[in-house]
Amino acid sequence: MKFMDEYRDGETVHRLSREISQLADQNRTYRIMEICGGHTHSIFRFGLSQILPGNIELIHGPGCPVCVLPMGRMDEGLAMAERDGLIFTAFGDMMRVPGTTGTPLDAKARGADIRMVYSPLDALETARRNLDRPVLFFAIGFETTAPSTAVTLMKAKELGVTNFFVFCNHVLVNPAIRALLESDDMRLDAFIGPGHVSTVIGCKPYEFIAEEFQRPLVVSGFEPVDILQSIVMILRQMNAGVAKIENQYGRAVSWDGNTAARKALDRVFETRSTFMWRGLGGIPNSAYAIREEFAEFDAEKQIGVRGRSFPDPALAQCGEVLKGVKKPVECSLFGTVCKPENPVGALMVSSEGACAAQYRYSDATTVLRK
Ligand code: SF4
Repeated sequence: MKFMDEYRDGETVHRLSREISQLADQNRTYRIMEICGGHTHSIFRFGLSQILPGNIELIHGPGCPVCVLPMGRMDEGLAMAERDGLIFTAFGDMMRVPGTTGTPLDAKARGADIRMVYSPLDALETARRNLDRPVLFFAIGFETTAPSTAVTLMKAKELGVTNFFVFCNHVLVNPAIRALLESDDMRLDAFIGPGHVSTVIGCKPYEFIAEEFQRPLVVSGFEPVDILQSIVMILRQMNAGVAKIENQYGRAVSWDGNTAARKALDRVFETRSTFMWRGLGGIPNSAYAIREEFAEFDAEKQIGVRGRSFPDPALAQCGEVLKGVKKPVECSLFGTVCKPENPVGALMVSSEGACAAQYRYSDATTVLRK
């Protein structure tokens, strides 16, 4: 298969693994955070950590949107879902995310009309087919999925739809990286940059990471060869004592990103002054809100939110895992109380969550043969 097999080629993987071993200075450690949950999934799935030298530690970052959504936002969405006559729509990976009153599937069992959609346009179509009922889309995701929400709101306005609402939970990657870099327990040396987000925003917005914090970032694809090649690029930078933004994922990401998508984002969204992230707390300018021009579709304004927030269960260590301070297995609930079929924290829900990926692929040895 073009653009897949060649990036999973065992011989290339092992050549890159040898190159990494040669580049890694035995007298130091390399703590590299992969920001994106897609990378976390690939790293566990292909057992990549096992073919890296022991002094290279891959730390799983906050780039899984389901994982960073605070319980309070889930509760707000579910409170809307249980209003009479409302149809609640969301992507499939939201269906098992727990709030304090259960998951969307639990709400469905209690009688709420919960429907899974593949895109916000599907949710808009549901609204057009149910004109006598309000239809809510629970919007979630980084800059990767936000353009499709923006374009859907533009379409809803053009069509004059009056029963469609969006509960906007889109978050932005760079304020979260800044928060990690400025946190007291920051111990990161470099970043594997998010491939999907970068198809939209490009590489330029990451320049502050190199300029202000002297940390390299390499935007990376998601296959094993991509990730290992990105680690080679990072080690070369670190060994040379430089910090730059580089693009390994040139087949999908350009330096300036997708102009049309960025234009749609600018038209529909503005940044919130602050937004609560699970595990990271409030981060300034880190999420989108719907602009006044589209306020008629804004569920927060038209349906209303209570603005309550709830902490994670006492023993859950999702925050520490999200910041890279702890590994999933260091949480006392991992694999005992908290499992994919009974998630306590959101990191065990999505396949991109560090805990779910580690649980699912805990027995994985490298699947890439020479
Ligand atoms: S094992 Fe569960 S509770 Fe613990 S950090 Fe992971 S998701 Fe959170």
